Amino acid sequence: MPLSLDQSYQQVIARIQQAAAQYQRPAPQLLAVSKKHSTEAIRQLHGLGQRQFGESYWQEAEAKLTTLADLPIEWHYIGPLQANKTRPIAEHFQWVHSVDREKVAQRLNDQRPPELPPLNVCLQVNVDAEASKAGVMPAQVGELAELVNALPRLRLRGLMCLPRNTPSLATQRQPFRMLAALQAQLIAADGLELDTLSMGMSNDLEAAIAEGSTLVRVGSALFGERPKNDTKLS
Ligand SMILES: *Cc1c(COP(=O)(O)O)cnc(C)c1O
Repeated sequence: MPLSLDQSYQQVIARIQQAAAQYQRPAPQLLAVSKKHSTEAIRQLHGLGQRQFGESYWQEAEAKLTTLADLPIEWHYIGPLQANKTRPIAEHFQWVHSVDREKVAQRLNDQRPPELPPLNVCLQVNVDAEASKAGVMPAQVGELAELVNALPRLRLRGLMCLPRNTPSLATQRQPFRMLAALQAQLIAADGLELDTLSMGMSNDLEAAIAEGSTLVRVGSALFGERPKNDTKLS
């Protein structure tokens, strides 16, 4: 029998707490990644105490945000960003984790409604430095961070990465260590006030916590496997 949502939620919280204790780190926040899962599942998890949810596609998120408008959920956008499709994201989310270029940052800034607080932003870093993958290259992070930091309607909070999947803890830790070092450099050299390292998912949250994650993004370990047509996870 598969675990109930209540059981998998308790299991994920236990994994986070155990890793935090083992590596002597503060326990990171849990972002529940609800893409491809139903509004009923989100409502149920909210009822168990979860407040932060992540979505990857506006097309899919729109109906969920509308249906769940009665709940005090903090919505995080973690998916791919097309420059001509940023407006609803600037209008409906509190966080965006996947900013990776100037044009997208500028548009989110310009489109953030004036009555809302600045949009919290993380820069997605291409830690594997693969041309086919999303994210700003590590060597260009400093420049993009300065630029985003100067945009008044965005609040730069930190860095995010989505590394290639590997099975061993030691190799999983490498890209996370690199992201943490980049963040430390932005704080020390550029004086940026960053407090968020968005790293770690269902399969590698322990490795991310070992390297100082402040927010893990967990989908399948909470909600179960996503439907098979989910070929493009971002
Ligand atoms: C889907 C997704 C996740 C969650 O992945 P799981 O392996 O299901 O935990 C986290 N981050 C991003 C950016 C994603 O697209």
